[in-house]
Amino acid sequence: MKAFRSMVLVSSDPLSIERGANEVYQKLQQEIKSYDLQDEISLTMVGDVGRHDSSPMVIVYPEAVVYGPVKAEDVHTIVEEHLYKGRIASSFQAPTRELTGRIAWLSARKGTLPAEQRIVLERAGLIDPDSIDDYIIHDGYQALVTTLTTLKPNDVYETLEKAGLRGRGGAGFPTGSKWKFVAKAPGDKKYVICNADESEPGTFKDRLILEGDPHAIIEAMAIAAYAVGADEGYIYIRGEYELAQKRLVHAIGQAYEMGFLGENLMGSGFNFELHVHSGAGAYICGEETALIESIEGKRGEPRARPPYPTTHGLWGKPSLVNNVETLANVPPILRHGPDWYRSFGTPSSPGTKVYTILGNVNVTGLIEVPMGITLREVIAIYAKGMKNDAAFKLAQTGGSSGSVIPASMQDTPMDFDSFSKAGVALGSGALLICAEDTCVIDLARVLLNFFRKESCGKCNPCRIGTQRIYEILTNISEGTGKMQDLNDLMSLSDNLYQLSNCGLGQTAGAPVRDILNYFRAEVEAHIRLKVCPTGICPMSGKKI
Ligand code: SF4
Repeated sequence: MKAFRSMVLVSSDPLSIERGANEVYQKLQQEIKSYDLQDEISLTMVGDVGRHDSSPMVIVYPEAVVYGPVKAEDVHTIVEEHLYKGRIASSFQAPTRELTGRIAWLSARKGTLPAEQRIVLERAGLIDPDSIDDYIIHDGYQALVTTLTTLKPNDVYETLEKAGLRGRGGAGFPTGSKWKFVAKAPGDKKYVICNADESEPGTFKDRLILEGDPHAIIEAMAIAAYAVGADEGYIYIRGEYELAQKRLVHAIGQAYEMGFLGENLMGSGFNFELHVHSGAGAYICGEETALIESIEGKRGEPRARPPYPTTHGLWGKPSLVNNVETLANVPPILRHGPDWYRSFGTPSSPGTKVYTILGNVNVTGLIEVPMGITLREVIAIYAKGMKNDAAFKLAQTGGSSGSVIPASMQDTPMDFDSFSKAGVALGSGALLICAEDTCVIDLARVLLNFFRKESCGKCNPCRIGTQRIYEILTNISEGTGKMQDLNDLMSLSDNLYQLSNCGLGQTAGAPVRDILNYFRAEVEAHIRLKVCPTGICPMSGKKI
């Protein structure tokens, strides 16, 4: 393989592209050529590197200098100064970004920020997602080859059980056990399905994995299929994820050409066909049985369970459904072993978790950190503190259906068991961080507006309950609430939890229950005093 003096990476996630990454890339090509440097410098577009405030970014190795946000007109100076004259074009460096840790990680491909460790995102932002060669050079398909040539199917799921991998879609179910259920389910036709229908507002980690490292999911699905005895798989991807879908389809084509998909892989006699199925935008299709209905060409409505997809899934056959992040953990575990994996995180929740940080903080974006880190650490270290030095009021963990937690709980370790003991859902990994000027009624109303629209309508508690809660919250925000509303909100939330058919309805009332538990005085002020303490609600003269 050709060696280059420098490697230049350009971020190419949708945000970077929207801000002109393609123009930056083209200009870099022209400028590098005009200085006759094309034989000395490699130029690659890579996936999201996790810092949206500096997009589009240009990263130059081996110096690991980060420029951003870069415009096409900046490129001439960067090429002339840095690549031709060998001086850092400091005026275009990411200003006050404190990217040292990220740069060091990119250089060493290991986490160096305090407590950061990249396992599922180890290649995202480092390799060209359209190049299978790049993937292979960075240990890609090594786990699949080892699996097919040296392991029996039970070795694979037993390794995952030893590693203690738990599903990253929200529920935290042990992944190895789920694979074992499907492997042991009777039937000669089975399926593996990757749930890439990431519709939770504020969550975009799966998209960045797929955009930055699509082969990792293809490799993981082939391993999963071998372990459970499936010969066909589907990646169900959210329709709006156009770039991720394009890269996946391209990567699947490459994998077929190179013999990592198709018939008789590595001469093992194992066959695996992989399809991509695009969703049509319904939030509920992220629920695994609704997703299966959707692949079957039916309306996306959750099925009653049991039976579970592990025995009665796609077209009634045993099916393994795993989230993107869960699958992305599999090849590294098989490459490095369960003990290595257990060296990260906590004993009951080993490994890492990818979080999307959003809200009133200085730096938003994506991080991958060991399980067990606290919210206080996330805000202080990765989010660089609250915007305008405001006080932290609350966070919503896990997306719209997650829990609302007050500042007093920000030292709770973020792992499945600690959060579960505290009555908090870890959920999808979105961390919405809100400052002191956030109105809890406004927040709950926005969330319930989302749920009442996304409810599939199949069962009454959810269809009617989400609408009724939204109406009560609207009354409170407009100054016409009554004290009786608080009891009604509680009982409606309980009914949703107890009586709804699927996770959407069961969790839709969680934010309401949480704000009544932790912010009751603020809610009562809206009703008794007809005052919105933060001045957000319409009764204070502001329209929401
Ligand atoms: Fe549909 Fe809501 Fe019932 Fe789920 S709980 S099946 S989303 S109506």
